[in-house]
Amino acid sequence: MSVLENFDKIKATIPSGVQLIAVSKTYSPEMVAEVYNTSHRVFGESRPQELVQKYQQLPKDIEWHFIGHLQTNKIKYIIPFVHLIHSTDSVRLFNEIEKEAKKNRRIVNCLLQVHIAEEETKFGFTSEELKGFLSSDEFKAAQHIRICGLMGMATYTDNIGQIHHEFRKLKNIFTSVKSAFFSDKPEFKELSMGMSGDYLIAIEEGATMVRVGSSIFGERMPISKKD
Ligand SMILES: *Cc1c(COP(=O)(O)O)cnc(C)c1O
Repeated sequence: MSVLENFDKIKATIPSGVQLIAVSKTYSPEMVAEVYNTSHRVFGESRPQELVQKYQQLPKDIEWHFIGHLQTNKIKYIIPFVHLIHSTDSVRLFNEIEKEAKKNRRIVNCLLQVHIAEEETKFGFTSEELKGFLSSDEFKAAQHIRICGLMGMATYTDNIGQIHHEFRKLKNIFTSVKSAFFSDKPEFKELSMGMSGDYLIAIEEGATMVRVGSSIFGERMPISKKD
């Protein structure tokens, strides 16, 4: 099937109220343009240099979402234009984003990434760390970050029950964090969870954003885990 056929097929499964982030990492700007021409405007990337290149080559009304682990020395490349950083996964990264956003005189939209999977390799706050951080003066002092919600990744497994369980756990953390720390913040409303293999489960469990790449663009070539 072509990219456009894939895209239409995925799009048809997404209820209104859930936003589809078309994850274009490793795919060419031409392939992004194909999807863009259907009037889709929301794309996700996970490597800063690649995101900057596509930003430069493609139309400026694309909303670029950064979804991968972000090294602090690369933040500066994406801060001037990024629409939403899904993967704010540590206090250190949060503080560095704040610094760069301030330099750029921007308020940058971010999600806080929560570690819900069994795998040790997935980044993010535990629910305890998250609550500790949100109570801190450090968090309250930040003026250049707008926290719009939470993001998480489930374990890569065939065990559908486990995936349901992990997404449900994230939804519960979202609900409790919202009432404890963001009850007066209407912008805290996004729950980014679900990828090609599990986005339908994520939607059942309350995702407001899903990040789908390979089901739209095709299998990716293996890429290095670094950066
Ligand atoms: C690559 C990636 C995706 C998309 O993965 P697919 O399985 O290709 O849909 C979603 N979220 C994150 C954080 C990613 O790095």
